[in-house]
Amino acid sequence: MAEFHAYRNIKLCSKDCLCLFVCPTGATNNETGQIDFSKCIGCGACANACPARAITMIPNKYPKQQEKNNYVINALLDIAKSKIEEIKLLNGLMEKVTDEEKKLLKALMHSNVVIIEDLMRESGFMLPQSKNAHDLLIKISRDEKIKDVANKLLDKIRVNE
Ligand code: SF4
Ligand code: SF4
Repeated sequence: MAEFHAYRNIKLCSKDCLCLFVCPTGATNNETGQIDFSKCIGCGACANACPARAITMIPNKYPKQQEKNNYVINALLDIAKSKIEEIKLLNGLMEKVTDEEKKLLKALMHSNVVIIEDLMRESGFMLPQSKNAHDLLIKISRDEKIKDVANKLLDKIRVNE
């Protein structure tokens, strides 16, 4: 089995179709604009040929997450909580500032959201293939209101044991 498969970033793709000519399996020739993983043998020819650098070779198996002890996890979660407080404060300022200043507040809020996502991922809860995320999905799939979404994600995301 190939160690990698190709992923096309459609936003970068200039649609010159070079990847279609070099792909030995036809995996790049897909109506959805996405590469067909079931046909991709991970040869990398498309990524090498792509002038727009729109294709990345992605490993099929990711390394295991590093074990983190409770001290580290709690410290990460504390920082995430402080960022949530910061977002609340910025949100509270929204009504008191000019339209130009609102743009800055929105940028700061977005940056805090990105930091929180990184922190949660580092805490081991958001890497989609992680066992933590898988266990969480199984848990929430028992909830009638969200079980359909949870089951769809369970079908699509491979768990990295
Ligand atoms: S070679 Fe790159 S830029 Fe050209 S169609 Fe393929 S992905 Fe898009
Ligand atoms: S890595 Fe090889 S098989 Fe996979 S899409 Fe690219 S050219 Fe085709």
